[in-house]
Amino acid sequence: MFKYKTGDEVLITAGKEKGKKSKIERVLPSENKLVITGINIYKRHKKATRNEKAGIFEVVRPVSVANVQVICPKCTKPSRVGFVTRDSIKNRVCKKCKGVLK
Ligand SMILES: [Zn+2]
Repeated sequence: MFKYKTGDEVLITAGKEKGKKSKIERVLPSENKLVITGINIYKRHKKATRNEKAGIFEVVRPVSVANVQVICPKCTKPSRVGFVTRDSIKNRVCKKCKGVLK
């Protein structure tokens, strides 16, 4: 089970987008990375090829999970995510308020 889920609100804690808040668009568990809406967009200039026109393309780069914190919807604070097993069901919980995250 991965600590991060699509749709989680996160705070960027490092890198060029530090301090920004956005939502997880995609999770890449095998790389420990997250694609976050509007974060870490790089512009790529491309030359024209036979099939494509030249132009500037925006490329979204995944952000390492080490550089984000999930914002808990219950206590609205950036917090760490832990797991609690109750009735043999594993839940994600906020380590600050112990609230269960979806
Ligand atoms: Zn919380």
